[in-house]
Amino acid sequence: MKIFKPALLAITMVIALFSCSTVPLTGRKQLSLVGDAEVNQSAAASYSQLLSDPKTKVISNGTDAQRVKRIGNNLAIAIESYLKANGYGDQYSFNWEFNLIQSSEVNAWCMPGGKVAVYSGLLPVANSDAYLAVVMGHEIGHAIARHSAERISQQMLVQGGGALVGAATADRSQATQSAIGTLYGVGTQLKLLSYSRAQESEADRLGLTFMAMAGYDPHNAVAFWQRMAAQNKGGAQPEFLSTHPADATRIANIQNLIPEAMKYYKK
Ligand SMILES: [Zn+2]
Repeated sequence: MKIFKPALLAITMVIALFSCSTVPLTGRKQLSLVGDAEVNQSAAASYSQLLSDPKTKVISNGTDAQRVKRIGNNLAIAIESYLKANGYGDQYSFNWEFNLIQSSEVNAWCMPGGKVAVYSGLLPVANSDAYLAVVMGHEIGHAIARHSAERISQQMLVQGGGALVGAATADRSQATQSAIGTLYGVGTQLKLLSYSRAQESEADRLGLTFMAMAGYDPHNAVAFWQRMAAQNKGGAQPEFLSTHPADATRIANIQNLIPEAMKYYKK
């Protein structure tokens, strides 16, 4: 079937108008052309693909692995109980997983649906529980705010006016999974999708609040990002710093967000 471009654009705009969801805490309305179930399922598939890859070395025993799991669980419990108490429903009952991966990379991420990876290269920088909670809280913030789904939705709009929205489920899952792979560098070396600055600062805001809810003082975020910035010295900059620049603007932004987060701080 051949559809004229203006018609396609109109259809797309109608879809966009009626396909919004709301970010918890910030209340921001976002474009949402892919369902949570679909995105979370694709993410879970990418995650297990990564963990079972012979090149991936998962550290499952020892104090570091336990630390990642303990801090992750503390965050997950605090976030879920807050969201449930505030009427956000069951869509945030994630199947959480927290794994430590052996790698010199200074990196951490949380896929949609709560699939978290911390790379061992991050641990010397995040050398306290509160520092690790800063990064994990931030990454979980991206997942709770459905930033991946938003990015994928925006890409769908750009690529042929949401043609995938009405496509067969198999095609859609394939496209969703490859988009997730692209976002997290699984199955491809190319990172075509990355989060916007606005999404990054939203993840900062959520992350500070989440760490506070879990009993970690959000003031630690400033010192942690300054430590991250110091990784820049000596030439080779971790890729994480290119997507999370710890410059004066971002540090000032974080400082401004701390009073709000402190309202949730459980000592
Ligand atoms: Zn981020």
